[in-house]
Amino acid sequence: MRLVLLGPPGAGKGTLAALLKESLNLVHISTGDMLREEMKNGTDIGRQAKGFIDKGELVPDDLVIRLIEQKLIGDKQVRHGYMLDGFPRTRKQAEDLDRILGQIHQPLDYALYMEATLPVIIQRLGGRRVCRGCGAVFHVHNKPSRKKNMCDVCGGELYQRADDNEATIRTRMDVYLKNTRPVIEYYKAQGKLEKLDADKDSEEVQGVLMQTFNEDRKLNKH
Ligand code: ADP
Ligand code: AMP
Repeated sequence: MRLVLLGPPGAGKGTLAALLKESLNLVHISTGDMLREEMKNGTDIGRQAKGFIDKGELVPDDLVIRLIEQKLIGDKQVRHGYMLDGFPRTRKQAEDLDRILGQIHQPLDYALYMEATLPVIIQRLGGRRVCRGCGAVFHVHNKPSRKKNMCDVCGGELYQRADDNEATIRTRMDVYLKNTRPVIEYYKAQGKLEKLDADKDSEEVQGVLMQTFNEDRKLNKH
């Protein structure tokens, strides 16, 4: 199965992806994670991306499309299915993704739109903590780690993302409304959109989604 996860920052895309990775055995491809890895390794791409990420703006389309194209065409692990998290974020990215997937005859199955309200988003982003070692995502109140500032999965140190501050969150929300909301319409027109109430608990969101997948399978939709 090939999925796209859409929704505002903090809707819970990465968290749902971690749950689906277990239950559906799909590869989790997050452009945000890929870009942060490039920055950590001090690569050319990382240096180009840093200024945009720090300000909460989008990294130029060409750069992220190149990263995704390499991953989808060059990485054997993605053959059995994947979830794209944080990509596409512009109409151009969505069109280029269709072009790439058209070339390899692997169309997307679903675009999952995780709809969340603003107070929920702000609470989630403000308390988000991420593991420096494995990238696992926690929350100081909603999903605290067992030991303070220590990852339950690998024991790594938890940190707060530099772009999870109030001013940058505001910019990211504006960028989302201007650039990424139109992508939702793009997939709706293709009949691939599945809307989820992402204000709910992540296990509940996962449950609703698995039910949709099962019903569609029975109807031979996918
Ligand atoms: P996104 O990938 O959409 O930016 P994340 O998955 O990183 O969002 O989640 C943002 C924060 O909200 C994290 O701290 C995560 O633990 C928390 N979170 C995610 N989904 C839920 C949920 N359904 N209920 C409560 N907290 C959540
Ligand atoms: P995320 O981890 O998805 O919240 O992304 C963090 C930041 O990485 C964003 O605010 C952007 O600056 C950048 N980024 C991630 N994915 C994309 C994308 N598809 N297009 C442009 N910029 C992106």
